[in-house]
Amino acid sequence: MHYLSTRGGDANRTFEDVLLAGLAPDGGLYVPEHWPAFPKEEWRGLRNLSWGGVAAMVMKPFVGDFLTGQELHALVEGAQATFHHAATTPLKQLDDALFLLELFHGPTLAFKDVAMQILARMMDIALMRREAHVTIIGATSGDTGSAAIEAFRHSSRARIFILHPHERVSAIQRRQMTTVDAPNVFNIAIEGDFDDCQRLVKQMFNDAPFRERMRLAGVNSINWGRILAQVIYYATSALALGAPDRSLCYVVPTGNFGDIFAGYVARKMGLPIDRLVVATNVNDILHRALTTGRYETGEVTPTSSPSMDIQVSSNFERLLFDALERDPGRLKALMDQLTQSGGFGIPEEALAYIGQLFKSGRASEEDVLDTIRRTYEETGEIVDPHTAVGLAVARAHAGRAHMTVSLATAHPAKFPEAVKAATGVHPALPPHLAHIMELEERFEVLPADLAAVETFIASHAQRG
Ligand SMILES: *Cc1c(COP(=O)(O)O)cnc(C)c1O
Repeated sequence: MHYLSTRGGDANRTFEDVLLAGLAPDGGLYVPEHWPAFPKEEWRGLRNLSWGGVAAMVMKPFVGDFLTGQELHALVEGAQATFHHAATTPLKQLDDALFLLELFHGPTLAFKDVAMQILARMMDIALMRREAHVTIIGATSGDTGSAAIEAFRHSSRARIFILHPHERVSAIQRRQMTTVDAPNVFNIAIEGDFDDCQRLVKQMFNDAPFRERMRLAGVNSINWGRILAQVIYYATSALALGAPDRSLCYVVPTGNFGDIFAGYVARKMGLPIDRLVVATNVNDILHRALTTGRYETGEVTPTSSPSMDIQVSSNFERLLFDALERDPGRLKALMDQLTQSGGFGIPEEALAYIGQLFKSGRASEEDVLDTIRRTYEETGEIVDPHTAVGLAVARAHAGRAHMTVSLATAHPAKFPEAVKAATGVHPALPPHLAHIMELEERFEVLPADLAAVETFIASHAQRG
């Protein structure tokens, strides 16, 4: 399988290339040359396999000769071993037609662990073969940083520097990053806000000599390896619920469009996912785009589901590429409009293509609290605000023709204030994190200044 850039400036890349590159050099996102699909009989055969077995089969067509099926299976089992539930990503039935898919049993309690644990293991193999090292840099307002640090803490080939806004992330989220004691892990608290952190990371990637010298790599949600790893739990859950002989609807709390795009890939591979519902909080660029046809950036409003507080949804570009019949020229023209004027109109036939499969809904802060409370009263389940955005939208899409799976993307203990406000219950941290408030923290406070941050990274990168 080879990969090409959505913007037409790169093609014929191997899986290993795109794994290590992240973003394509022309600013586009890598997509496979075609979507491999399994016939129904083959999907039926996968019902007898374990989670790791399904994972290996689903990923194999995309990785080419990078790893054999057996190697993939072993790698995925290594990632699974970091999870604290025997089913890895268990399904929980809420009513006769609604299921929660719990993706938060990993080390940092959010769904990003699934893909990050697999990505880190794949990157290590690729770097070992190339006898190379990389410096991973990233900015975080919460979930991404801790998931990346947990995933790369044992890497012998990657050092990782995560920037977070000083005194502006929750104590639990900060401690999940700063209490990790590993020689290749560095936390930088920036005296500024999340936008300052993101700007600094962007500036470092744009500083070509620095980028080359440090061999910078990114692990944000546009990395194809992460998307691919997320296809696994769509497959395991669909098979458990009767696919390929029963069609399903998935509701996905969405920010950067990475998770739900993996659902689209699962559908392209032949799973009968008849409907994918984009659930947004009040930062609803995607809901507006799908309902009005105008993709238009706005101001970000902070909410109780901070991992979905985004201005643009980067991975939407991948869907748009297919919707434009894979015409990179037309796609690039729209992306240029977005940069120049902050928005574009989705061409009619592209909107129709998207609308056949995708629906959308938006949950206000009031809807979120109301949904956490109602879900607790009606089912006894305590859900986090991100999961509640999905459930609120799932409810609004009532009259469900299909079995519906709503993705539970974070553990409620990660967002105790909102949960307590809605239910009166303070959700307890799971045992493996119970002592996190007592562990020693390590982080460096730096000004929001490019030279200061680059100097710190350069002087510590050799040691990692
Ligand atoms: C990252 C995140 C999301 C959004 O996922 P995308 O792939 O960016 O759409 C939703 N919920 C939680 C808890 C997250 O951490």
